[in-house]
Amino acid sequence: MTCKIDYQARPDLLKDRVILVTGAGDGIGRVAALDYARHGATVILLGRTLEKLERVYDEIEAQGYPQPAIFPLNIEGALLEDYDDMASRLDREFGRLDGVLHNAGLLGTITPFEEYEPELWEQVMQVNINGPIWMTQSLLPLLDSADDASLIFTSSSVGRKGRAQWGAYSVSKFATEGFMEVLADEFKAHEHLRINTLNPGATRTDMRAGAYPDEDPTTLRTPEQIMPTYLWLMGPDSRGVTGQKIDAQPPKA
Ligand code: NAP
Repeated sequence: MTCKIDYQARPDLLKDRVILVTGAGDGIGRVAALDYARHGATVILLGRTLEKLERVYDEIEAQGYPQPAIFPLNIEGALLEDYDDMASRLDREFGRLDGVLHNAGLLGTITPFEEYEPELWEQVMQVNINGPIWMTQSLLPLLDSADDASLIFTSSSVGRKGRAQWGAYSVSKFATEGFMEVLADEFKAHEHLRINTLNPGATRTDMRAGAYPDEDPTTLRTPEQIMPTYLWLMGPDSRGVTGQKIDAQPPKA
C-alpha cells in the first residue's frame, strides 16, 4: 500500500493516548517512541537493555513530553505470564492502551540455510514472531476496549518476497504478515481497532549495517525521515485502514 512519507502530523495527533513501543531503546523504535511522545502520547518503552531505555526516557523528559514508562523485557526469554503481567500493569497504571508498535527485531545471520544454526533460528523466531504473537494475545482486551486503537507489526521486504540467505529473519517476517492477516480478519467488525504491518524499508540503523556491511549508510533514509508513515498509522487519520501491508518509504527508483 502507498506509503505516507509526505504526511504531516498535527502536533497533538496522539494527545492522551498510551502507546507501547517494543525495541524502544535503539534504531527505529527509539525514534518512533520519541516522535510519538512529541505528538502527545504517553509512551511505554519496552526493550531488553535498561540503560538504553533510560536514555530514551531521559530524552523524553528533557523535552517536556508526557512522562513515559519503562518496561524492561527480553522478548527471547519472556513467558506468557510476563505478557499477562504486562497487561495487568498497563491496565492498573494507565487504564488504557491505544496503540502497539511491535518493532523489536533480531536479524540473526545472513547465511545459506544449510549452515544456519538451529539455536539462532529459534531465537530469531522467538523475538520476531512468537513473542509478539503472545504479547498481542495478552494486550488485545485492552486494545479492543480503546475508542480508536492501532496495532502495528513491523515487517520487511524479505517478508513479502523471499531472498537467499535471509533464513529465519525472512521466514519470521512472512509469518508476521500472515499473522496480521489472520488477526485483522478476526477483528474486521471491530472498527475501532486497526491491525496492519509496516515495512520501514532500508533505514540507517545498526541492524541494516549488520546486514549490509559494505553499504554506504548515508545513501539510506534515517529513522527520523520515515516517521510520517509511523505517525499516520498510529494516529486517528488511518482509522478504517486494516489488514494492510504498508510501506514507510517509496520503493527505490
Ligand atoms: P535495531 O537498530 O537493531 O533495533 C532493534 C531493537 O530491537 C533494539 O532496540 C533491540 O534492543 C530490540 N531487541 C532486539 N532483541 C530484543 C529482545 N530479545 N527483547 C527486546 N528487545 C529486543 O533494528 P532496526 O533497524 O531499528 O529495526 C527495527 C525493526 O524494523 C525490526 O523489526 C526490523 O526487522 C525492521 N526492519 C528494519 C529495516 C532497516 O533497514 N533498518 C528494514 C526492514 C525492517 P537492544 O538495543 O537492547 O539490542
